[in-house]
Amino acid sequence: MEHKNLWAPWRIGYIQGLGKSKECFICHNLKKPQDDDENLVLWRSKLGIVVLNTFPYNNGHLLIAPVRHIAGLEEATDEELLELTKLVRESQKALSLAIKPQGFNIGMNFGRCAGAGLPDHFHIHIVPRWEGDTNFMSVCGDAKIISQSLNELLEQLRQVSKEHNLPRL
Ligand SMILES: [Zn+2]
Repeated sequence: MEHKNLWAPWRIGYIQGLGKSKECFICHNLKKPQDDDENLVLWRSKLGIVVLNTFPYNNGHLLIAPVRHIAGLEEATDEELLELTKLVRESQKALSLAIKPQGFNIGMNFGRCAGAGLPDHFHIHIVPRWEGDTNFMSVCGDAKIISQSLNELLEQLRQVSKEHNLPRL
């Protein structure tokens, strides 16, 4: 089978910045609700937070994390796991309403060698997918393929959240 990766060259800024900033960006965002627009925070719940990935693999790439700064599932409580899973469900709903993906990749990376950019605060990636997005990207590999700005997307997701009363936890 042919191996295909999503081609996301704008992520180089993120990769080069790894290890440079000292503060965990999820904890940083959690502490500053007044900066939610700038930090691209979509939702806050009792035990979790949902943010747009600043360096997305694809349009609509969301990150879901627990409020507590914990590295792995073994440190999470059942209550946290349930709420995070519900946030996954609600994120899929919101993305489906806003940008109509044809599929999703949902997953977690543990440890730097597995691709975790923030290994101390675990988070779930939600990456919307469309037929042919890998092919298209490898042909036209530049940042323009994220055809929608992150601020515009945040606005759109907040709008559907309001209309559909999301997240329903
Ligand atoms: Zn943290």
